[in-house]
Amino acid sequence: MKRCWPAEVAIPIFRAPPVSRTRTDNAVAKVVAIANQKGGVGKTTTAVNLAASLAVAEQRTLLIDGDPQGNASSGIGLARDAVQKTIYDVLLGSATLDEVIHTSVQFKHLDVAPASADLAAAEVELVDQPHRERAMRDAITPIRERYDYILIDCPPSLGLITVNMLAAADTILIPVQCEYYALEGLSQLLNTVHLVQRSVNEHLGIEGVLLTMYDARLNLSRQVAADAREYFTNQVFETVIPRNIRLAEAPSFGKPIILYDVASIGAQSYMSVAREVIARNSIDAAATVTPDPAPVELNS
Ligand code: ATP
Ligand code: MG
Repeated sequence: MKRCWPAEVAIPIFRAPPVSRTRTDNAVAKVVAIANQKGGVGKTTTAVNLAASLAVAEQRTLLIDGDPQGNASSGIGLARDAVQKTIYDVLLGSATLDEVIHTSVQFKHLDVAPASADLAAAEVELVDQPHRERAMRDAITPIRERYDYILIDCPPSLGLITVNMLAAADTILIPVQCEYYALEGLSQLLNTVHLVQRSVNEHLGIEGVLLTMYDARLNLSRQVAADAREYFTNQVFETVIPRNIRLAEAPSFGKPIILYDVASIGAQSYMSVAREVIARNSIDAAATVTPDPAPVELNS
């Protein structure tokens, strides 16, 4: 069967230096941007359900909605009329992140910073701002120590909003839908990662590639997964998110899957991804705490 990955994908960029962090009990949050400029690959589903799963695992979690579609905000259960100040105000400097955050949404340990349609205007309005790529990074700095994880749902584009989110992040998590041409455009995404590394955020690393909407009955899904593991080796999460109708239904009830149908394969899968994320970051901590005499300062 023909390979599912375009030959031009720049694999070496994936060898970005790992972020050196000292995660201890009082470590500042790990900031993970969930991004892929391809539309409909499962970014928001991943942001909402990974955030919920981390919160259930008693990780203090902030979900930031960085998409004017506002799907993460509504999907986690924030009613549109409950939302006043949003990430738009944060990026344009008319509100602090603190003023925007809704605390304990659905779960004790889950806070949410919502977005609405006005965020689309930020893409244009930010152009005239000084330090325009650093707005999100600067906004997160004062609140980082309150959380274990900050997840950012990015829009399906590589514009200034996504650049802002990548500039604010320690790592990028890339959902890849198990379909033909799944990696088309990935080299563009990786070029943007490179650009951000070279300009505002040299320590931006890769959290992992998450295979989504996997259908074990389809040769194509199996082929995409096999190719992904061949190219990206252990950067692909072991957990694969299956195509699961319960995951697609949950947002219309304003619930993460864990509250909508905890027994579903979709819920179990996202809890498994959360366990992998926690384990990966604990290993990072063990690896960096002892031997690294000069841990990288991420808040500079
Ligand atoms: P956009 O690029 O528009 O922001 P996205 O990458 O955030 O899209 P989602 O909104 O998460 O993608 O998912 C696209 C659609 O696929 C949604 O209708 C969602 O409910 C559905 N979906 C996502 N993951 C799954 C899955 N594992 N099984 C079934 N449906 C899914
Ligand atoms: Mg989305």
